[in-house]
Amino acid sequence: MSRIVVIGAGLGGLGTALRLQGMGHDVTVLEQRDAPGGRASQIKDGGFTWDTGPSLVTMPWVLEEVFAAGGLDFHREVTLRELDPFYRIFWAGEDRHLDFVRDPGAMQAEIAKFSARDAAAFPGYMDAMKPIYDDGILAAGRQKFDSIPQLLRFTPRMVKLGAALPLHYATSRHFRHERIREAFSFHSLFIGGDPFRVPAIYGALVYLQFLDGVWYADGGVYAIIEAMASALDVRCGDGVERIETAGGKVTGVVTVGGRRIAADAVVTNADAMRVHEMLGTPKPRRPLKPSMSAFLLYLGTDSRFPKLGHHTLLVGSGYRKFIKDVTGGRQLPSNFSTYVHAPNRTEPAMAPDGGDSLCFLLPVPNLRSGTDWAREGDALRDALVADLETTFGLTGLEASVRVEHRMDPADFRDRYGALDGNAWAMEPTLHQSASLRPPNRDKRVRGLYRVGGGTHPGAGIPGVLLGAEITAGLVAEDFGRGAGTHGGGHAARA
Ligand SMILES: Cc1cc2nc3c(=O)[nH]c(=O)nc-3n(C[C@H](O)[C@H](O)[C@H](O)COP(=O)(O)OP(=O)(O)OC[C@H]3O[C@@H](n4cnc5c(N)ncnc54)[C@H](O)[C@@H]3O)c2cc1C
Repeated sequence: MSRIVVIGAGLGGLGTALRLQGMGHDVTVLEQRDAPGGRASQIKDGGFTWDTGPSLVTMPWVLEEVFAAGGLDFHREVTLRELDPFYRIFWAGEDRHLDFVRDPGAMQAEIAKFSARDAAAFPGYMDAMKPIYDDGILAAGRQKFDSIPQLLRFTPRMVKLGAALPLHYATSRHFRHERIREAFSFHSLFIGGDPFRVPAIYGALVYLQFLDGVWYADGGVYAIIEAMASALDVRCGDGVERIETAGGKVTGVVTVGGRRIAADAVVTNADAMRVHEMLGTPKPRRPLKPSMSAFLLYLGTDSRFPKLGHHTLLVGSGYRKFIKDVTGGRQLPSNFSTYVHAPNRTEPAMAPDGGDSLCFLLPVPNLRSGTDWAREGDALRDALVADLETTFGLTGLEASVRVEHRMDPADFRDRYGALDGNAWAMEPTLHQSASLRPPNRDKRVRGLYRVGGGTHPGAGIPGVLLGAEITAGLVAEDFGRGAGTHGGGHAARA
């Protein structure tokens, strides 16, 4: 049994800790904030409950596996409900909306509202996505990527499948109608990637939703965090200042309070672009580009907005310019495309009777844009709410607000230690993928490992939890599997 410290109680940190504890290792999780969860935190106020970040659960079997590896039965701990439709998309100035529904025939009928030709192309699109998902997401997401030769072996297959092309372009080879092209390529935005630039491998994010469904966890995603944390020794309010090493090997950590904790291995879930700061080593030579950020508005209202489903995407005019401004780090958007979460549609207890618990997510540039959020936040908030009323028909939204919270890029920096206030770790581009990310097992310091959105495979609940499987597997390679009985967790899915 080895003594292992995990820095950070985000989903990746908790997932790795559960797996290592299940193997029989002695695991302590040190979290700088006063509660676990990281980006997946929770706000409760005035009878309203919001998940601060992730809300849409996909690939639920990944959660089942992590819980099982930690000796827990996921379905005993958490109640999942399937959402169908997954989400509804409205476009500014467009009467039609598009529902994403799981049944292929019903999905074709939805697409046919825009284009009969594109509806007929849907089965071909799904067929094209299958090998990209199988090889690019599932197989690649479950193996360590720590060498360039390995990346070179992987790349030709992806190129052959068209998965290295820009996502929107690749989607356009299947669909002609611009609305349908947007609808089948926007998903990368919500893991920090520009649909016009990220590789089409991210198109498989749509495919996997049809494959495994889209789910809601009762109590919100935070119920998953609570279940994981309650099985672990998580010490909140205990940030790590330094990772200590001797002779090129980890020996422990020193907390912000100055306490030294000895460890055989350290797994860091902190921002992967800032780990050198904890090691006291120079900045890595190859600079990594952090993703864009997000402006989040949590509104508790005393009336309901039936136009909004459980998940709704509101696409503003000038979508392409909006994305350029946001991902290029140029300026705050003036036309807004937002994602809205209304969990009380599925679980009424998330808002008081007659009200709505709404979270609006607006992608914005990270702090490299130089925006002074203390000065500009109020104006952006007012412009967004006004736009939601006038462009998207949420009339009376402003007047109905009873409780309000918000988060901006400066909060991502200050609360989670995110470099330049990024919301999704590093930007998911070809040059920052797989072996070109900071590795799950450090190459210079023995006993140091990474997990979370900033290492392979990347952001998203399934991404960081697949990463937890890889990272825990590497610790086990180096330190053995301990004496536990639950350590495997490699269910025969792939
Ligand atoms: C607004 C938003 C919406 C999203 N929506 C979805 C969604 O619907 N579905 C989905 O699948 N994914 C979604 N995601 C992505 C998903 O939430 C993240 O990829 C995932 O939660 C990140 O987990 P992580 O393991 O990287 O940890 P993080 O959440 O980044 O947590 C890291 C933790 O480490 C702690 N920490 C940092 N430094 C230290 C230190 N020195 N000492 C101690 N602790 C430290 C931080 O406080 C934090 O708690 C969303 C993300 C955002 C931001």
